[in-house]
Formats: sequence, structure tokens, C-alpha cells
Amino acid sequence: MSRNFDIPLFYRSPVISVLKEARRLMDRYKKDLSPSILDFGVLQIKLGRHFGFCFGVENAIDIAYRALAENPASNVYLLSEMIHNPHVNQDLKDRGVRFIMRPDGQGLVDLDQLRDTDVVIIPAFGTTTGMLARLQAGPARLRVYNTTCPFVEKVWNRSAQIGKQGYSVIIHGRHNHEETRATFSHADESAPCLVVRDMAEAEFLVRFIEGQEDLERFQQVFQGRYSEDFDPQTSLQRIGVVNQTTMLASETRAIAALLEKCVQEHYGSDAFADTRDTLCYATNENQDATLALMESGADLAIVVGGYNSSNTSHLVELLEQKMPAYYIKDADEIEDRTRIQHLDIHSGQLKTSQNWLPDPGPVRIVLTSGASCPDALVDAVILRVCDLFGVADQLESALRPYRQQIQSAETDALESAPQPE
Ligand code: SF4
Repeated sequence: MSRNFDIPLFYRSPVISVLKEARRLMDRYKKDLSPSILDFGVLQIKLGRHFGFCFGVENAIDIAYRALAENPASNVYLLSEMIHNPHVNQDLKDRGVRFIMRPDGQGLVDLDQLRDTDVVIIPAFGTTTGMLARLQAGPARLRVYNTTCPFVEKVWNRSAQIGKQGYSVIIHGRHNHEETRATFSHADESAPCLVVRDMAEAEFLVRFIEGQEDLERFQQVFQGRYSEDFDPQTSLQRIGVVNQTTMLASETRAIAALLEKCVQEHYGSDAFADTRDTLCYATNENQDATLALMESGADLAIVVGGYNSSNTSHLVELLEQKMPAYYIKDADEIEDRTRIQHLDIHSGQLKTSQNWLPDPGPVRIVLTSGASCPDALVDAVILRVCDLFGVADQLESALRPYRQQIQSAETDALESAPQPE
């Protein structure tokens, strides 16, 4: 899916835009996953082939800023965080946007306060059927701008489809994430549904189906995570697996394969619905590009993104299998050559690491970002790291090969264009 969006200029970036444009022109079919490299001699920065704003995020930002521009005199509300990036959300707040809920669903604004001239923006994750009904029942002239990503809606549509065919829906996701809460409520309209967090829980389901776990234990493990009409004894006999779009794609595939094998062995070949097409293209591309970054070798990785961003945390999870990976929200987390503050995805706590840069160089750093991270923040990290190595003034020469690629692609395009007679 490709479309041009109107994204505020301050989200764009002078450095990353050159790299991305060169890669786009030289590799139109996205076949080459090798990293883009900024080489400074003492420092090498390797950037993923795919990272940063995805289709759904650009679409949401485009609509949200349009909603603000079209309604200068109205109160503008966002149901919850626009996307999981503090800079994007803060900028919207600075422009007067108010949040109705926190990411965990806790209310900040009473919906009964909404007035006829108000505007409500539904974020990229979508929202629950209950919330949609409340908005519809709200003031008659309430204006609703819906930025739900089409790839999230695709998951809802597929859930409804398999529900109508008599399958239960197993959702691979974090049950308290906005998107999973929304998907659960939509799936619940047409099928019994249950949320599975990870492979360990999928393995528990297999043991339950095989009679090795009892009902009491099932209820403990999945408490609050299955629909009222989900009967553990019968609802697992025909299932399909869909996912929160930003989970680890490889884990969703592995969970689906495990459950498919199990239910087919126990309940027959039509006991599993094929739902492979619900994986989001951006999650796949970013994770595949991150695997290529890992393979390319480096001393350490920096991943930039909001600390509550699911897709960003999965990039960190991949990278730390091969190298120290520092998850930072922006360049300000890099104090100096010896200290960096970052999120530990295992404890969920911020921590400060000492001596994070190998000494002496040359140092190879892998750099990538989540789907909700503006490229401008990655630019700032590049500049910060270059400063630490005293090579900021060489940035233009490191970019030169990419500028040359853009120039040569443009020359080729001009030469192959039809000439006037
Ligand atoms: S990660 Fe995928 S599903 Fe989520 S907003 Fe981006 S394109 Fe849409």
C-alpha cells in the first residue's frame, strides 16, 4: 500500500530522508535488506533497510493534523495516545488536543462532557465496539476522525469472517494494549475469543487440549482474557489465530503452527482456519530488516522509540540476542561516551549503563527505530553519536554515496523518459 501523506515538516529529517530516498530509488521492489552504512572510519553507523513511520502511523498523523486545521475553534479530543511516541503526543497536546483515556483504558475526560461542536480522533490502534457505540450515541454533531489503521481493520474483518465460519478466535497479543482490547471487542461480536500472550501460553493451551492441564488452572492462566461465550471445553475445537499487528511475526507464526498441528491431530483437518494474511507488512519488514542488521555484525545496537511501543520493544528483543541493545526514547538519553540511560524491556525499568561504548574504536553501531518514531529523532541520535566521536563535521561526506545514488537514479529516469518528437 503506498500513498503520500501530509506529515509536519519537523517530523522529517535531513539525514534519514537522503538514505531512505536512495534506498527507495535503488531497490524499488524492496528485495535488498542489507543495511545503509554511514562510515566515519572510527565509527560506523548501520541503519536498517526499513524503520520508522509505517503506513498506518503516517495516515493517522496526516488525519490528526488535518482535524486540527479544519476545526480551529473546536475542542479536539484524542481517545488515547495517537501512537506510542511521547514526542508526537506532546506536540498534539501543545496544540490543544486533550486525551480522553490513558493507554491502559483509565478515563481522563468524562464522555458525557462532549459537546456538539467537539471533535474526537480515534487513534491508529482503533477502539472497542463499546467506545464506538458511545461516540455514536454522543452529541448529534460530534465530529469523529477515525485514523484506525487499515491493517488493524483487516485483522477485525478476518476475525469476523472466521467467526462466521464457526471458528473461535485466538488473539496473539498483550491483552492490555489498546489495539488488542479493540481487536478483542470486535472479534467478540462474531466468535468466542481468547488472548494468548506468548509461546509459553500457547504451549499451555496444547497441554490443556491434551488433557494435561485442568480447567481450574486454565481459568487462572487466562483470567480476564477470554470472552463470556468462550467455553474452554468446546471453543478450542475449531480455532484461528490472529495477532496484535506489532507482535513478533516469527512468534505469531510459531504459535499458529503449534496450535494448528495440535487441533488438527485432535479434531480433524478443518479444525484450524488459515489466518496467515493478518500479519502487518510494516512489522514484517522492520523485523526482517532488523534480522539483517544482526547478521551484518556490530558492537552494539541503539533502538529509538517510545517506551510503551510494542513494535519497538520487539526490535530490541531481536537485537539483544546478538549484541548489547540500548532502547532509548531520544538522543537526550545519551549522556556521554560512558553513560547512557535506556529502558530494560525485561524489568520495564529505566536504567543507566556505564561504559556502553567499546574503547578503543573503531566502533560499529546498529541503529533502528520503531514504527511510531519520527525520523527526526533518529537524525538527532546520529548527530549525538557523531559528536561523541568528534566526526559530526564529516556527516556530509558520509552521506555522499547516497546522494550520488539519488542523482544517478534521477539521471537514468530522465534519459529513459519518452523524448518529444
Ligand atoms: S504497524 Fe502495521 S498495523 Fe500498526 S499502524 Fe503500522 S501499518 Fe498499521
